[in-house]
Amino acid sequence: MSILQQIMDFAGRHLEPFIVRGDELIPEHCPICHGGESGDKYTFALNLTEGVYVCKRGSCGVRGRFEELAERFGERAELIRPAARMKKQFVLPDVQLQPPTEAIVRYFASRKISAETLNAFSIAAAPDGSVVFPFYRDGELVYIKYRAPRKPQGRERKEWQYPGTQPILFGMDMCSFSQP
Ligand SMILES: [Zn+2]
Repeated sequence: MSILQQIMDFAGRHLEPFIVRGDELIPEHCPICHGGESGDKYTFALNLTEGVYVCKRGSCGVRGRFEELAERFGERAELIRPAARMKKQFVLPDVQLQPPTEAIVRYFASRKISAETLNAFSIAAAPDGSVVFPFYRDGELVYIKYRAPRKPQGRERKEWQYPGTQPILFGMDMCSFSQP
C-alpha cells in the first residue's frame, strides 16, 4: 500500500475533518494540541509523500514521522519510503582563464558583439584559444561552457562544457533577485 493510501486511511479514522492541499493533509485541528485554548485551525500538516508531520502552533510544535503519529493512536504503521534520492556531486572548474584572444574578439565582432559586452560577461579564453563562457554563482566560478571562436567546422562540436560541473544560467550573478 502506498504512503498516500496508508495516510488517507489513517486520516479517515482519526483526523476528520481535514483538507488536502498539494501533497499535505491538513486536519482542522492538530490531533496533538487540538489547537490550544483558542482552538487554532489548520496548524498541523501531514505530508502525503514523505510521511512526516508538523504542527506550526508555537506552543505545540510537534513533528515526527507518520509511524509515531499512528502509535499515539494505538496503531502500528510502517511506511515504505523511497530511498533518498542520490544528490549529484558537482566539481568546480579548474582552469586558467585568459583574456579573450584577438581571434575571439574578431569572432564576436563579426556577430555584432562588442568587446565591452565580452568584458561585461567576463568572456575569456582557454589555453587552447577556445572561447570560455564562465558561469558564476555568488562570485564563484561553478560552470564553464566552451566553443571554438568560429563556425563549427565539419564534425566539430558547437560547444562543450567542463566535465562534471553543474549547469546554471548564464549571467545569473548579474541578476538581482530583490529588484525585478
Ligand atoms: Zn499542535
